[in-house]
Amino acid sequence: MAKKVKKIHEVMTRKLRLGMVGGGPGAFIGDVHRKAIGLDGQIELVCGAFDIDPKKSKQMGKQLYLPAKRVYGSYQEMIQKESALPADQRIDMVAITTPNNSHFPIARAFLEAGFHVMCEKPMTMDVKQAKDLRKIVRKTRKIFGLMHNYTGYPMVKLARDMVRQGDLGAIRKIKVQYAQGWLSQAIEKKGSMQASWRTDPKQSGAAGCMGDIGTHAENLAEYITGLRIVELCADLNTFVPGRRLEDDGNVLVHWQKGVKGLLFASQISIGEENGFAIWIYGDKAGLEWHQEYPNDLTVKYLNGPQQVWRRGNGYVAEKSPAAARGTRIPFGHPEGFFEAFANIYTNVAETIRCRIAGVKPDPAALDFPTVEDGLRGMQFIEAVVKSKGRWVKMPK
Ligand code: NAD
Repeated sequence: MAKKVKKIHEVMTRKLRLGMVGGGPGAFIGDVHRKAIGLDGQIELVCGAFDIDPKKSKQMGKQLYLPAKRVYGSYQEMIQKESALPADQRIDMVAITTPNNSHFPIARAFLEAGFHVMCEKPMTMDVKQAKDLRKIVRKTRKIFGLMHNYTGYPMVKLARDMVRQGDLGAIRKIKVQYAQGWLSQAIEKKGSMQASWRTDPKQSGAAGCMGDIGTHAENLAEYITGLRIVELCADLNTFVPGRRLEDDGNVLVHWQKGVKGLLFASQISIGEENGFAIWIYGDKAGLEWHQEYPNDLTVKYLNGPQQVWRRGNGYVAEKSPAAARGTRIPFGHPEGFFEAFANIYTNVAETIRCRIAGVKPDPAALDFPTVEDGLRGMQFIEAVVKSKGRWVKMPK
């Protein structure tokens, strides 16, 4: 008993130690993860294999003021050396922020070595890898978080709670879009690091923009409504000559309970920056959320004025404790991208602490995307690629 109390005290009174794979010089999302973990002070970055090039990994380690001996030339070296450290120094968890093709081998290796994982999306390269990874997560009993960061926004949680509480009535229609324009030219041929792997099937997977951003749309609709896609009919397009993966796609979707609608993702929509937005219509009301204006949620009625719910207000907290839990500063001071990542990290961190301590987490902490969401994402990618204009069933 005393031993258990000591273990609980040890893990509840210290920061969790994180290692990172990816996020080297010039990389995009690794740096967002690093900034997000700093917001709540629950997690500290202690080591990393930051780049595919060992020299650049060292350079990044220096930039981050990490001790040289904790900056590794590869993720394999990181696992070997971290595993050899005393338990009170080695990492608890790893953040995987590399291109899609390496998520599976890296996640598998860290899980099997006994570390918890936070992984970028899309989770794997195909459905088979996703199912294998789910098996490994179950077998190792490690916590696996997937960075579908948009489910971390307070007003998305409010939207989910409004749907759950029946404010919209029975859902009839969903429209969800993720529109960008940054891949409207062949910038992969002009040295863009982010464009080059995203347009290469060997590194990106079977889909281009549907894997990169379409999976966020699929995940957001399922998160807010709790409804899974039953079947879909996709029209994928490659507009930029010579590109090997689609850079645009329009999908008709049937969700559970007879809900119909559409999902589109595009990276050639010139002028759109990160036009990720969702509209949900029930038989009593409708709602609308835009990630470029994430502090507002608009609710619309048949015979009444539109309401704009604003993050940070008491009425939001009353309706959605999850939205309040994910809010750090008062209304009127905008919160956004970093905070949403931090909300996912905070819930994952609390769940990891409880797993290490052997106690049950607060159910509120379990509100983060998991390996199941990752598998859904891969099933979605497989279905849209297979569709070619025909209706295709998604697994139940
Ligand atoms: P990026 O090209 O900017 O950076 C990738 C980094 O990973 C580089 O530093 C590269 O050297 C490193 N790397 C590659 N293989 C490695 C290996 N084996 N070991 C160590 N480092 C390695 O890519 P990005 O835009 O940051 O995207 C990375 C991942 O994050 C992708 O899976 C992408 O889909 C995802 N992503 C998610 C979001 C989100 O909103 N959740 C946004 C952007 C990207």
